[in-house]
Amino acid sequence: MSKLNVFIDGSWLFRACAPERALASHTEWADKAFPLDFNRLDAALIKHAAATVPDCGAIGERYLATSIFTLPENFDEGPTEFPGVSADDVARTRGGVALRERFVKGAVDAGYSTRAIYRPKMKGWILERLRTNRYQEKQVDATIVALLVRSAITHPHDVHVVITGDADVLPAVKVAYPEYSRNVLVATTHPDELRAENRQTSFSLSNFEFDSPPFYFQDHGAELAAGAHVYTCAHCHKVFARPKSIPGKARPCCFTCNAKRT
Ligand SMILES: [Zn+2]
Repeated sequence: MSKLNVFIDGSWLFRACAPERALASHTEWADKAFPLDFNRLDAALIKHAAATVPDCGAIGERYLATSIFTLPENFDEGPTEFPGVSADDVARTRGGVALRERFVKGAVDAGYSTRAIYRPKMKGWILERLRTNRYQEKQVDATIVALLVRSAITHPHDVHVVITGDADVLPAVKVAYPEYSRNVLVATTHPDELRAENRQTSFSLSNFEFDSPPFYFQDHGAELAAGAHVYTCAHCHKVFARPKSIPGKARPCCFTCNAKRT
């Protein structure tokens, strides 16, 4: 039996799960972050991989690469390193760090390695760039490529899935591991949505020849969301969860569609 090894660009996936973005907008709760269940993600990926590589049936190495800022203890007091730091900056930065911690905890609790999680110290210049949306995490894509290529060379009979929407990852994989077509699989959001989010780059899956078709997150919303009973609305196809199961005969119907129909 071959294994499925998973390499997540955690910074990208975190953003893809944010309110109103690719995943959340396909749910009943578009204004809330998509509640990704990493165990369910692994199961859905194995199922998808097995369609092309039938003996792929177990999980192998799993990494989520991202960075989470470590805030100094005196961050709230506006230390000299952070000139002009406002109460707003402090609250927003703390909130952002807490959200990312919670997201990463979901992956780690499901068994993902913590080795690709960076914890850089927050600096004045970083805060300034975050404020003006000019901060770029470069280390993450390089880490994903390095881990995936090492895994693919060491375990040529396994399947290796890269979860990303970043334009730079695939050409790098192609150069370092030219055999990628056979056993590398991409999981991303629909290309059209990807273009909308990333207009300045021209990430195009069609430039690569993968044996396995891409895994598109939006096609698997109900399989990936946390919740006791998760459904896809029979009318609008949005994902929703309920504490109790819907009786067998009834077609799943979300709150919005239900309100329209009564
Ligand atoms: Zn609906």
